[in-house]
Amino acid sequence: MSITGIKGMNDILPADVATWQFLEQTARDIFGTYGCQEIRVPVVEKTELFCRSIGETTDIVEKEMYTFDDKSDHSLTLRPEGTAPVMRSFIQHKLFNQDQVTKLYYMGPMFRYERPQKGRYRQFHQIGAEIIGIDDPRIDAQVLAMLSHYFEAVGIDDVSLQINSLGCPECRPGYRATLIEFLQQRMEQLCPDCQRRCASNPLRVLDCKAKACQEATVGAPSVLDHLCTDCETHFASVQKHLDLIGTPYSINDRMVRGLDYYTKTTFEMITNNLGSQNAVAAGGRYDGLIEDLGGPSLPGIGFAMGVERLALLLEGNGITTATPKLFIAAMGSEAENMAFSLLNQLQHHGIHAEMDFSGKSLKAQLRRANKLKCSYTLFLGENELADGNAQLKCMSDGEQTALPLEGIFVQLRQLLDAPLSTSL
Ligand code: ATP
Ligand code: MG
Repeated sequence: MSITGIKGMNDILPADVATWQFLEQTARDIFGTYGCQEIRVPVVEKTELFCRSIGETTDIVEKEMYTFDDKSDHSLTLRPEGTAPVMRSFIQHKLFNQDQVTKLYYMGPMFRYERPQKGRYRQFHQIGAEIIGIDDPRIDAQVLAMLSHYFEAVGIDDVSLQINSLGCPECRPGYRATLIEFLQQRMEQLCPDCQRRCASNPLRVLDCKAKACQEATVGAPSVLDHLCTDCETHFASVQKHLDLIGTPYSINDRMVRGLDYYTKTTFEMITNNLGSQNAVAAGGRYDGLIEDLGGPSLPGIGFAMGVERLALLLEGNGITTATPKLFIAAMGSEAENMAFSLLNQLQHHGIHAEMDFSGKSLKAQLRRANKLKCSYTLFLGENELADGNAQLKCMSDGEQTALPLEGIFVQLRQLLDAPLSTSL
């Protein structure tokens, strides 16, 4: 039996790659405009990094990590997210010494042991950005504007931006206690997971997908009523600046996020088109994380987008790989030799050209040119060689033109580099 791939880990096949490259390139372009530079970190880190940053009682650390011992008995983990590795690298290489603000982006595979379904996989891909060094609420507004700008640029408009504030170590404990009190009165109604979460991670109960938990938590105390003055002012200013630049958002005070390191502003980009996998991007501020990981006391804010979910939303939008400009249909060994040299010259000059290597008839070669959606086909048969002119057929209108073999490369190069509408 042939060997298959691993459940929940997908191949991205050539037919889909154009969409992925478009999503990646648009991120490079847009994030670059906002001053972000790419950083590339390994896919494996010491397990400790994720336990300390994401939090021991989160779903990711409790259930979803691919953790293993290497041959030297070091516990390693395939990265389940990008922020912790990027912060580890930021601290290790003292990037904070280079400038007061560091703006980074990354893209690549992440790994979580989850139940695979549409939009949820075990190897999935994120494109994320992190802005470190400034806690001004205008930075939060900029990050949200950049995220919205990205969705606009890739043409996904059926999404909405939801924002919340999760407070800080000053005010969250008070909210946590009030919430626990509320939940304790409804303990029997909660799912077994949430009964456990009440003690370890009560905010997560608000995020539980179980219907019973959602019903039981209607009317739960709002985190926004428990913010300290600093967090309240910050959140108000984020909203004010989003209004100022016209970035649409709504407030969702039940959005808690599944990672412990978030403080103040958190947000999600939500769609109605992917079933329960409705978050396409998510992020927030993490003002204590860098210090917790042994770095300087610097604030940060960032987000990650799920590339598979973005690609699903773009499905059927017609993003395709570029098709060849020219097919050289040759017949007879002299013509084939000439075709082969011409092919090589064209490719060398960045012009995508194809020819047949299996001795097919000219008619069959033309069929192949059609199948490959080539813009032009050049016929080089015995007649053409004798006549000193090759025939160039424009595949869109069928028009045929004679091209002198003498200096044909220069002519083709001019024609194929020029837009298709240009006549000879
Ligand atoms: P969810 O609530 O869907 O589990 P999450 O809160 O765990 O998402 P984050 O850790 O915030 O997700 O990751 C950011 C983004 O990465 C998500 O909004 C989503 O688009 C994507 N993502 C997360 N987990 C997966 C997965 N298993 N498969 C595909 N995409 C994922
Ligand atoms: Mg998750």
